[in-house]
Amino acid sequence: MKKARFPDIKTLEEFDFSCQTTIKKKQVISLLDFNWIDNRENLVFFGPSGIGKSHLAKAIGIKAIDKGYKVIFFNSQDLMEYLDLALAKNTLKQKIKSLCKYDLIICDEMSYIPWQKSSVFNFFQLINSVYEHRSMIITANKSFSEWGEFFADETAATAIIDRIIHHCHIFPMSGESYRLKIQMNKKDSGGNL
Ligand code: ADP
Ligand code: MG
Repeated sequence: MKKARFPDIKTLEEFDFSCQTTIKKKQVISLLDFNWIDNRENLVFFGPSGIGKSHLAKAIGIKAIDKGYKVIFFNSQDLMEYLDLALAKNTLKQKIKSLCKYDLIICDEMSYIPWQKSSVFNFFQLINSVYEHRSMIITANKSFSEWGEFFADETAATAIIDRIIHHCHIFPMSGESYRLKIQMNKKDSGGNL
């Protein structure tokens, strides 16, 4: 758990599926046999902010650790900085090799911030090493067709997406932000905003 570097602990037990109906509890439970990790497949959760993508990624990651899989969690900005620093220190290959020791790499919030071209290239190298070799969970607020925008390079985006989706379970999610919903409920019941 410590090595996984989760910023906070989110569990499946505390995920309210009645609030997030675009993904079924049955679908998520079926992932807990972790055949997708054994088969080197990826999970992608798409959708707007606040609908539980990161929560599910962390919760599934924690269940995977319970089953004995090695997991590492990155916010995509942290991953970008981690790989950039490795490139600057001439240790990119080593760092990617050590990341490949994990069964599951979680890459959270892929599409929130723009990536520099050199960072995209570093990420491509990671994806290339992980492809058909390890599993990833990716969460993103933009669909694949928009990835060219924040990757600042259509060709690299296509090559990255191609590898991610080859063996992949995609969960498009939608709905209202859970954070907003909670605040609105507080407001309705007389709480402070
Ligand atoms: P996203 O990654 O889609 O922007 P998060 O997973 O960060 O959203 O969710 C925002 C907050 O709301 C988190 O604190 C998360 O635990 C909580 N949350 C979101 N959806 C649910 C849900 N269906 N049940 C319980 N908590 C939820
Ligand atoms: Mg998130």
